[in-house]
Amino acid sequence: MTVCSVQRCNQETAGRFTTNEKVFMETAVCGDHLQRLEAGEPWSYQGAENGLLMAGNGLPPVVVKYEVQETIAPGVTLALHTDGDETPSSFWLSKESAQQLGSFLTGNL
Ligand SMILES: [Zn+2]
Repeated sequence: MTVCSVQRCNQETAGRFTTNEKVFMETAVCGDHLQRLEAGEPWSYQGAENGLLMAGNGLPPVVVKYEVQETIAPGVTLALHTDGDETPSSFWLSKESAQQLGSFLTGNL
C-alpha cells in the first residue's frame, strides 16, 4: 500500500496531484486530498521527504480578512482573521506598517 503524500495522512493513494504553477511537481495522494487539491485548497510542498502540507495537516491558517482599527494612540490595531478561527489575532502597529502588512497578506498590493 502506498500512503498519501499529505503530512500525517495515512490513507491509501487514489491518484496523482500534478501542478506546473511555479515548478513541476507530481505526487501521489488519497482520494479526499486529491479532490480538495483539485478544488483549489491551499497547499505547500515540503519536498519528497516531508510531502504536502494542507489545512488540518500542517499548513498554518490562511488569512482571509484583516481590519485596521484606529486608536487614540499614534498607531493602529491590526486584526487578522484566519480561515476557521472566529477570534482574530490582534497586533498594535504604526499606521504605515499596518497598511503595508495587511495589503501584503491579502494580496492587494
Ligand atoms: Zn490524504
